[in-house]
Amino acid sequence: MPIYEYVCEDCQAQFEKIVINKQQEITCPKCASKKATIQLSVFATAGNGSSSSSSGSSSSGGGGCCGGGCGCH
Ligand SMILES: [Zn+2]
Repeated sequence: MPIYEYVCEDCQAQFEKIVINKQQEITCPKCASKKATIQLSVFATAGNGSSSSSSGSSSSGGGGCCGGGCGCH
C-alpha cells in the first residue's frame, strides 16, 4: 500500500500517511490543518537514473554433462 509523505503548509510538519483513497482528506497531525502538500519520495530522486540492469551473462545451453554435448549415457 502506498505511503506518501506530506508537509503541512501551516506548521511545516512532515508526516507520512498511508493513502488508501486519493480523495481522502489529509490532516496534519500537529495542527490539524488540511493544507498538506504531498511530497514525492525524496530518496528516489537522487539524480542518477538507476537503471537496474538485468543480470549479466546468461549462460544458456547446458554446460552440464547431459545438456547434450558429451553423450555420457
Ligand atoms: Zn500542521
